[in-house]
Amino acid sequence: MRWDNLHREGPDTSGTAALFGSDVVTRTVDTPEFRGVTFHEVRARSIINRVPGASRMPFEWTVNPYRGCSHACVYCFARRSHGYLDLDTGTGFDTQIVVKTNADRLLRRELASPRWPGHHIAMGTNVDCYQRAEGRYRLMPGILTALRDHANPFSILTKGTLILRDLDLLRSAGAVAEVGVSVSVAFLDEQLWRTVEPGAPAPERRLEVVRALTDHGIGCGVLMAPVIPFLSDSPDRLRATVRAIAAAGATSVTPLALHLRPGAREWFTAWLARHHPGLVGHYERLYADGAYAPRWYQRRITRQVHELAEEYGIGPSRPGAHRGVPEPRCVTEPEPGPTQLTLL
Ligand code: SF4
Repeated sequence: MRWDNLHREGPDTSGTAALFGSDVVTRTVDTPEFRGVTFHEVRARSIINRVPGASRMPFEWTVNPYRGCSHACVYCFARRSHGYLDLDTGTGFDTQIVVKTNADRLLRRELASPRWPGHHIAMGTNVDCYQRAEGRYRLMPGILTALRDHANPFSILTKGTLILRDLDLLRSAGAVAEVGVSVSVAFLDEQLWRTVEPGAPAPERRLEVVRALTDHGIGCGVLMAPVIPFLSDSPDRLRATVRAIAAAGATSVTPLALHLRPGAREWFTAWLARHHPGLVGHYERLYADGAYAPRWYQRRITRQVHELAEEYGIGPSRPGAHRGVPEPRCVTEPEPGPTQLTLL
């Protein structure tokens, strides 16, 4: 590990260097346009990751140009992965963003390798590749261009409206390979959004993304996750959300109940105690057995959402529905930690 620190602007964060793995930190940036956010620019050594335990995931290979996410979702279970970098998993996850500035060039090189088998690559499965940092670093156009030029199938899961900047690239990639896009919209409640997903675009804006993608011939599914017990799971709220998703033209809707793995659990529980103290006891009981809500709860949510989806005409028969592209079943992939495999 080298901490080159070629150009430093802002506070000294060199204490974080030791656990940035094999990636070389080239610069730490604080800039007025992103007040409160620090970017750690790194030269990554590899970019295509193989997901450990991929048999449980609908994808095996991923590309993540960023670590940390300014969308700052309280429930995000990629938080724990920030701990592997010796960065704070709470506010630090929201504000200390690692940027692999060579991600696009590296990907082009790795895709060209005779060892790369050309498998599907999932993006946005650890942190959001269209978070605000992408407006500054513009890594995704190069990544999409590389994937298109190699006719490599891929999928993107995002809450970011910035994906619309790359519509033409998505379309041209879709002409030569399977491309799947999913937008994450769990609920419509504005108050809930402002507190639990404070850095993400509003749910209505994400639905506009679904509409725009659909209008441009890019089938777009919605990952309705996480459904938050006692806050977004009433029949009325589920109905309103699925109805809006259908009206936006989504090709599919996949519900997922909140789960609270270590890292996210502590952060979410502290948020709950601040904003909904009366629910803390309910959550302790619902999540008494661990990170996941009980099976009966998960089954109930899935059944309700699927029934509503059918009622509102969302499904695989809708034009533009994904063909052969894994549907997202998980907000984030397993945290990339010390055992994360890389291809090249
Ligand atoms: S859930 Fe997704 S959008 Fe939200 S902070 Fe995590 S990676 Fe970012």
